[in-house]
Amino acid sequence: MSNQPTPAISGLYPWLDEQWVFFERCLELDRLAHAQIIEGPAGCGKSKLAKAMVAKLLCRAKERYACGACRSCKLLEGGAHPELIDVTFETDPKTGRLRSVITVDQVRRMIEQLQLTTSISSRKVTCISPADRMHSSAVNALLKSLEEPAGEDTVLILVTDSPGRLPITIRSRCQVISVNQPDRAQTAEWLAETTGKEAAEINAAIDAAGGSPLRARTFLVSPELDAYQQVRESLAKLLLRPGSVSIAAAQLAELDVTDAWRWLSALTGDLAKAVMMDALPDWIPANIQLDSKSLLQLQQQADINRQLSNTTVRGDLLLQTWLIHWAELVIGSRERP
Ligand SMILES: [Zn+2]
Repeated sequence: MSNQPTPAISGLYPWLDEQWVFFERCLELDRLAHAQIIEGPAGCGKSKLAKAMVAKLLCRAKERYACGACRSCKLLEGGAHPELIDVTFETDPKTGRLRSVITVDQVRRMIEQLQLTTSISSRKVTCISPADRMHSSAVNALLKSLEEPAGEDTVLILVTDSPGRLPITIRSRCQVISVNQPDRAQTAEWLAETTGKEAAEINAAIDAAGGSPLRARTFLVSPELDAYQQVRESLAKLLLRPGSVSIAAAQLAELDVTDAWRWLSALTGDLAKAVMMDALPDWIPANIQLDSKSLLQLQQQADINRQLSNTTVRGDLLLQTWLIHWAELVIGSRERP
């Protein structure tokens, strides 16, 4: 779950070996660039690679991966390492909603923190994800810091699945580590080892996931249809009883977090289209009015929250906030004349 602290990384997905060897080699030769970009399609392990790199850069032992036992690793596991600055979407205090951009203030705060001296590890590491969602003023602030690095001991990691949206001025100052979708045979072998499922089921999951190994695993370990039905049922109940957010949140918390957000997004998106065509599906209780604009906003938020579920943001709070907005759809419609 996304609200759990980062566990110590003892190994990586097999298709990330090449990237890890490259990273290790750079460290050994003391040639690691001040700034790194980890890029590649969604569902291929970029976040896991970034977390493993962060842990290794901060770990005080000299092992292949972060040791998981030193003071640095323990602090990282508890989400309290003073030399790691994680930059991702924050809640806007004015609206209480999660922003969909990384602001200039966040980047400025990060740069200030980089000026502080280290106390636990020999480096300071900062990770910006998703880096392609930085506001243009945030990009400018970051550029200045890339031109004048805070010191030899800082490492910046930018994670993105839309590298084309990163300005060339940023890209040209970074070392790029590309994560590619592994080939089908490797994906199938890994899924067989980690899930113990039969080949036919594995092949179907790889097809449904468009080749993404992590998405295919989600399909295999959490029956997709069950999750879909659970999400739909919880949303329908909440429309009938808008006060029962905590019950719905508890039901959905039992699902795989990525699955839950995927279905919340798909269901609200489909519903928005149905509203525009004035043809509500059967699962929506009678006499309920919904508006497509709010539904589309909820869909967008569900997509952002799905991305955030790979970060250290508290997943239970994200879910509860989203469900409150869902319940407000119907409260709003009842207040209308
Ligand atoms: Zn360690």
